[in-house]
Amino acid sequence: MAVVEIVTTGTELLLGQVVNTNAAYLAAKLNELGFDVLYQTTVGDNPGRMREVLRLAFERADIVITTGGLGPTYGDITKEVTAELVGKSLLLDPEAKRRIEVFFSRRGVCMPSRNQKQAMVPEGAVVLYNERGTAPGVVYEHQSRLIVHLPGPPSELKHMVEHTLLPLLQARYPRQGVIFSRVLRVHGIGESQVEERLTDFILNQGNPTLALLARRGEIWVRITAKGETQAAAEHKIAEWETEIQRRLQPHVFGQDDEALEVVVAEALKNRALTIATAESCTGGLLAGRLTEAPGSSAYMTGAIVAYDNRIKRDLLAVSEEMLLRHGAVSEETARAMAAGVCSRLGTDMGVAITGIAGPDGGSSEKPVGLVYIAVAYQGKIDCRRYVFNGGRDEVRYRSTQAALDQIRRAVLAVE
Ligand code: ATP
Repeated sequence: MAVVEIVTTGTELLLGQVVNTNAAYLAAKLNELGFDVLYQTTVGDNPGRMREVLRLAFERADIVITTGGLGPTYGDITKEVTAELVGKSLLLDPEAKRRIEVFFSRRGVCMPSRNQKQAMVPEGAVVLYNERGTAPGVVYEHQSRLIVHLPGPPSELKHMVEHTLLPLLQARYPRQGVIFSRVLRVHGIGESQVEERLTDFILNQGNPTLALLARRGEIWVRITAKGETQAAAEHKIAEWETEIQRRLQPHVFGQDDEALEVVVAEALKNRALTIATAESCTGGLLAGRLTEAPGSSAYMTGAIVAYDNRIKRDLLAVSEEMLLRHGAVSEETARAMAAGVCSRLGTDMGVAITGIAGPDGGSSEKPVGLVYIAVAYQGKIDCRRYVFNGGRDEVRYRSTQAALDQIRRAVLAVE
């Protein structure tokens, strides 16, 4: 298997002024094709340190891919430093020069003389012409290592990678196999509980591997397998997936790009159910998520943002007495709001959220993050109490996530 090191260059990356998207992009693409990306290094525009990084990369990788530093200025040194290190001279590539001249003449200007530097390529290199900018990329061999230089601007790099580099790498290193991942998306149990249920998988991983990733308001269980073909990798995953699904039910709500709102929308649509929401602390966020999918009018009837108690009273028929006795953030009020919106809007299902999003307004009895969510459906009301961690944004988002999951469980009749 060919080992790859990605060397991203540019002082702006080290200063944190530019997010290193090139490294993530390249890693994802190469992994997909089965290359082993085992190292990523970032170095500034400094010849000494760049030499150090490249020397190490040539020791431990079969393919070294650099990005950035192919520009026309004195600060652009990647090609020069590498060529010097491996003892290659740089020669003018007439076609690269011609293309750079065309690039400038299309803009009605002559090519500045310093841009000629960009058309200089190491002897024996394959030139990757740049369809989006001026700096060509290059690929060449040195002592059975492959050296690749790519330009820094992401749009130039991506075009070059997809159109020329990847086909070239696949031809040069056939049969790398395929890496395939499946993500199971989980809500309703914590990361440590997931881990507990999957301990034997985690301890025995090899191919496939298993990773738990905490995402906002959900946990991702990622199963990754490598196989000769996509079908072989998928087959390896399927063996694990069935058992993992079984152990985590009913908390697995979807897979890969199936967000909770998408799953809920499908479930409501398939059963021809209608829904209405009454939201206090989330101010309409749940309604927003329920209407994200096209065609949402098939199930979403309407929403009432009942922020003020007067609205809870007048529009949702929550009694004054209940509000006084239990407060706006209480199980009783949440239940009454859900029943109220369901009957006022004439839907199959009514959902209510009331809570304290913070940062102020908490007390020892009712802390910030306390949220009640009620789902009225088929004559019953399922009301749950949550205390969410995090700031205001987090509490509000997690509330919508929990509400969507309660809807999902009610519709699918799972606990
Ligand atoms: P060009 O001469 O076409 O600009 P170059 O190879 O010299 O190409 P750089 O000067 O290193 O490229 O970078 C050009 C642009 O690309 C800059 O805006 C830089 O911030 C951005 N860039 C460079 N490296 C990365 C990276 N790893 N991830 C995301 N953006 C990057």
